[in-house]
Amino acid sequence: MLALAAAALLAVLGVLAQPWWVERRRARLRAQPFAPAWRRILRRRVPAVAHLPADLQRRLKGHIQVFIAEKAFIGCQGQAITDEVRVTIAAQACLLLLGHARSACYPRLRQILVYPETFVTSRERPLGHGLVQEQRLSMAGESWSQGQVILSWSDVLAGAADPADGHNVVLHEFAHQVDQDSGVADGRPWRPNLGLRRRWASAMDAAFERLRLQPSEVIDSYGASDPAEFFAVVTELFFERPQALAAEAPAVYRELAGLYRVDPLAW
Ligand SMILES: [Zn+2]
Repeated sequence: MLALAAAALLAVLGVLAQPWWVERRRARLRAQPFAPAWRRILRRRVPAVAHLPADLQRRLKGHIQVFIAEKAFIGCQGQAITDEVRVTIAAQACLLLLGHARSACYPRLRQILVYPETFVTSRERPLGHGLVQEQRLSMAGESWSQGQVILSWSDVLAGAADPADGHNVVLHEFAHQVDQDSGVADGRPWRPNLGLRRRWASAMDAAFERLRLQPSEVIDSYGASDPAEFFAVVTELFFERPQALAAEAPAVYRELAGLYRVDPLAW
């Protein structure tokens, strides 16, 4: 009986202690010196990093080290996985985590699949009466709720090269991951209380409906496809064209600043 109780206690402690072990491992990873070769990759490939305040640059480098240690990168169609691929993708993905000193680092994400160029994916479109049409689409990126993000390397490079054009496939797909952390991608990422959830919904829904009725010069019309795409598109703008987004949709900017816990207008 005593042995049984001891075993149960150990099992409970094991469950409780797990985050502590994980956090200790992450703290060690973050404390490691950032490799000079990785620093050069950031300078060459991810110019957005140089625009961040110094404390956020340090924090980003810590997040990159955790991300690369925890996530598997898989090359597809002959794409080689080099440090350049890992660091360029991780740096942009971790921009979304900058507001957190100790982030959970995309808890549901396990793998990043990288294609050399845009890749073809098929979708089934219901036509009614039980008929479906298979569509083949050329994609720069995709985010799955089962723990995968898929990216075209040439589009990753193009998105990073101009950090102020409002188009970035890594920010877009990882915004879907942030959204999917709370379940399905529905444009409703996790917010801590009902008041914030309501405020989020009213700001986002109003701006989404506005975009559906009238094209915007700032927000890409792709954002009008559904609330999940709207959230991903405005996330790209929040980090790459914060002034334009804050002027066009101040309530949306305020909600994103609350979610990501950063203020790119100040960078
Ligand atoms: Zn999308």
